[in-house]
Amino acid sequence: MRLQDKTALVTASGQGIGRATVERFLAEGATVIATDIDTSLLADLEDAQVYRLDVTQRADIAELARELGGLDILFNCAGMVPGGSILECNDATWEHSYALNVTAMFHMIQAFLPGMLNRGGGSIINMASLASSIKGIPNRFAYGTTKAAVIGLTKSVAADFMTQGIRCNAICPGTVESPSLHQRIEAQAQQQERDHSAVFQDFIDRQPMGRLGRPEEIAALATFLASDEAAFITGTTQLIDGGWAN
Ligand code: NAD
Repeated sequence: MRLQDKTALVTASGQGIGRATVERFLAEGATVIATDIDTSLLADLEDAQVYRLDVTQRADIAELARELGGLDILFNCAGMVPGGSILECNDATWEHSYALNVTAMFHMIQAFLPGMLNRGGGSIINMASLASSIKGIPNRFAYGTTKAAVIGLTKSVAADFMTQGIRCNAICPGTVESPSLHQRIEAQAQQQERDHSAVFQDFIDRQPMGRLGRPEEIAALATFLASDEAAFITGTTQLIDGGWAN
């Protein structure tokens, strides 16, 4: 068991990558605090400690950090995928994207890092994307901008705390089959007046491997980064994209 005796907190644990990671962390022996804005999605997670947490609410984050004390692993998974180019991006979309994709990580790390330092170290994992400073993807203006900021945030935290036992890494997936991906495909199908299956195939075709990633595959990478096997890894961007960036 690779995470025995470790305590981990995961944001956006309700579905998709966050959910798969909670399940994998539990299987690896961790004590897991599973959080999401929608607690109905956490109801069947019997082995985890479940909390409602909207990561855009700074006071709620601070209160939870006070209640929980120290962690060994913090997985900042919550994020949204706004569509459109710069011409379609209004201020509300821009601000909400920043609040959820970037500012939430600032507040989460600021709240939980002191407890981690008190324990002598820990692993912080931030969810970025291939769509970021790594690759420009059409119609992902606000998304790519915010995920690039996540990479900068990750490297900055890594640089400041690497001599104090803290590691901080970013995961950069290509397309992963999650509930919100299907919502995006449905929205695009309606907008373009095409079949769901045709748009779905477009998303598959972006990956040179000819398939989408699975949440469990991202969870496996998060588990490695969380574990002591990754003790020499910090400040990195971990691509997991079926060869898309190649
Ligand atoms: P998802 O989008 O299907 O689910 C997101 C979860 O986040 C839901 O359970 C939802 O309730 C929760 N959530 C929404 N707003 C929240 C808030 N304010 N506070 C706390 N929780 C909130 O999951 P996913 O597609 O696996 O995406 C998870 C992360 O992975 C996101 O950061 C996303 O940008 C990133 N990502 C996803 C893909 C992909 O193709 N699915 C690719 C690259 C990166």
